[in-house]
Amino acid sequence: MRLKAERQAVVDAARRMTESGLVVNTSGNVSILAGDTVVITPSSIAYDTMTAEDVCLVDLASGRALPGMLHPSSELPLHLAVYRSQKVNAIVHTHSLYATALTTVMDKLPAIHYQIADLGGSVPVLPYARFGSKELATMVAAGLDGRTAVLMKNHGATTIGPDLPRALARSITLEWIAKLYHQAALLGNPALLDDAEIAAVLAAQRDLVASRDRAIAERGSVMAPPPSSPALSPPRGGNQLPLSLGEKGAPGDPPRRPRPHDSRSTTSERQRRIRTPARPLRDAAAGKR
Ligand code: 13P
Ligand code: ZN
Repeated sequence: MRLKAERQAVVDAARRMTESGLVVNTSGNVSILAGDTVVITPSSIAYDTMTAEDVCLVDLASGRALPGMLHPSSELPLHLAVYRSQKVNAIVHTHSLYATALTTVMDKLPAIHYQIADLGGSVPVLPYARFGSKELATMVAAGLDGRTAVLMKNHGATTIGPDLPRALARSITLEWIAKLYHQAALLGNPALLDDAEIAAVLAAQRDLVASRDRAIAERGSVMAPPPSSPALSPPRGGNQLPLSLGEKGAPGDPPRRPRPHDSRSTTSERQRRIRTPARPLRDAAAGKR
């Protein structure tokens, strides 16, 4: 089966999305980018019985599903628009309850907790557009410029990341902060963090990640690290350490994989991104592309 590991990773993430209570029934969708192929959940298929074979492969440039696939998610235009405009490898779209409720009464999720730094600060609510529409796709792709999460009015939320674990973790963080805001607002008028505080959080997290990476590198000179796939696995160290935003991604994020349409990257960025893929992906690539 083509891109078997990636398709299984999409199934696993979709199940975790359901188990985490971020969606009910078949709502929401998940994708990763594997080279020039978008690996995306099929439309309206139950996650608990979904198999790797059900997961659709779509050519990024043409937007066409490969022959023999199920019908890709109705939000395929959104996933394509994000991959074509943002340097990310994974997208998670949910209808999580508190985040979605908030979209109906507010124009943003304010910076009520420092962990919102991982999402790029306060998260805007984009205007309503019908699910699956080009208009929604265009708004979400533009809204994700310089941030890792957006809210979609009367609909849900979308998060992005360099890999599925981090895109999913951001959906969980977003829902938790939306719930926190709801709880705090029941008690009174929540205090909020300003941009300077969020910038200070990002700086502190960057230092933390740098010292974590130094420690890993020092230990790595004694013990060789296990291989891992950048699109499928969290960073070694295992957690969702702090993230910052912008084109270069978060300080804890691994380098993003280079893509042919990635015209904005500099030579040094490209060099940093190119690294030996994990063995399963290397094997898959050698056999299939
Ligand atoms: P799909 O089942 O087509 O992915 O639709 C779910 C959804 O959330 C649409 O916005
Ligand atoms: Zn949706």
